Amino acid sequence: MRTWLVLAIAACGGGPRYLGAQLPDACGTDAEACAGWMAERDLDAGNLDVYGDAALRRYVQSVADRLARGTRLAHPPRVVISDHDGTYAAFGDRIVIGRMAIEKLGSEAELAAIVAHELVHVEGRHATVSLFGPEADERWLATRRDAEGIADERAVMLLERAGYAPAAMQRALEAELDAGDDAADDEHPARAVRLAHVEQLAGGRIAGFEGRSELLEHLRGMVLGRDTRLGVRVEDVWVIAALGVALDLSPRDVIHIDGDSVVVRHAKSSLTAYPIGAPWARELAAGLDDRAETDTALGRISVGTAPAHPRSEAPLARLEQSIHDLLPQPTPGTWVVILDRPRGGLVLELSAKTDPFIRDRWLHGLRAATPAELAAAEPRHLRVVRAPRAGTVAELVLACPDPDAAGKLDRADRVLGAGDPIKCTDR
Ligand SMILES: [Zn+2]
Repeated sequence: MRTWLVLAIAACGGGPRYLGAQLPDACGTDAEACAGWMAERDLDAGNLDVYGDAALRRYVQSVADRLARGTRLAHPPRVVISDHDGTYAAFGDRIVIGRMAIEKLGSEAELAAIVAHELVHVEGRHATVSLFGPEADERWLATRRDAEGIADERAVMLLERAGYAPAAMQRALEAELDAGDDAADDEHPARAVRLAHVEQLAGGRIAGFEGRSELLEHLRGMVLGRDTRLGVRVEDVWVIAALGVALDLSPRDVIHIDGDSVVVRHAKSSLTAYPIGAPWARELAAGLDDRAETDTALGRISVGTAPAHPRSEAPLARLEQSIHDLLPQPTPGTWVVILDRPRGGLVLELSAKTDPFIRDRWLHGLRAATPAELAAAEPRHLRVVRAPRAGTVAELVLACPDPDAAGKLDRADRVLGAGDPIKCTDR
């Protein structure tokens, strides 16, 4: 594996840079650490996906450090907070924890439970197995499901070793696993099976550090839900506040919004717009076929055709693809416009290169966002208030500005004492 990685780095950059940044020293000596750095660089530079709260990252890292002392790991993996849902162990010693996964948790012990589960994947090198293991067949998927069971089981033990309440494991899984998703999928056992398993392992042991105030103190002011700064519809405008740009939408078009991207359809033509990180935007722009570029008041605009990326079965090519496939990128053969702004890039994919209507659309519809549009795109943030009396979360959130939204941030039946912190939204 080491040889592949070192070769891949040379092949990716042709020099000591990756996505616009200097490769760290580890890339000469420790291939796995280097690959981890590259994966984090993908998140950070590629698609605006890292949640940039350094204090929160350090706090979650401290929880990981405490848990890692109970493992066989020589050093704790690096924690990265992503701006989306979902939590996973990335290869190269990284644990990626979604901000939207954290917002559902009610204590430091529950956060530790999620981190502990991912630590076991790192300890068992499960992410490396996924990337370098055989193609997914029945046997591989069965192994994968077993890995989930093992991670839950060993996580309960790690919690206890680190002094956290083992019963937090079940609460954390209840918060994270979608209640509607009760069947086993290809890679995970059923939710009910996992919950029963950890409940039995924890054996009702509630002794240990819980740390509700500690967690909530660090979540104060955190962005909640999908980060609308990456793209949100404000009346007839698609506003990308993170880039300071707006795209006018015409009522005659069919508009489809898919997470952070917008798809505008007109007859047989379509335009898809989504933000990406500035270094990745520059790399994509440089690789366009038949490229032309022009400097405008909004930034540098490159147009061209997205190149085909050939598929190869060679191990080296597979690794490069695995890393680059994580990044958002245009479909090969589409006509592409890339706007390069200091804070990031915007990709516009146009299905029909000759359709003048769609072509004019981006030319005339793309502009700087107004202050009012930027304000409207601001996401909600977490506000922590003190419970005026004892009660359940369901009762206490009635004092929040938006009780429905606040109720979704915590379990309704959790019992709090007077003075305990409650999670509210700021509007
Ligand atoms: Zn897992």
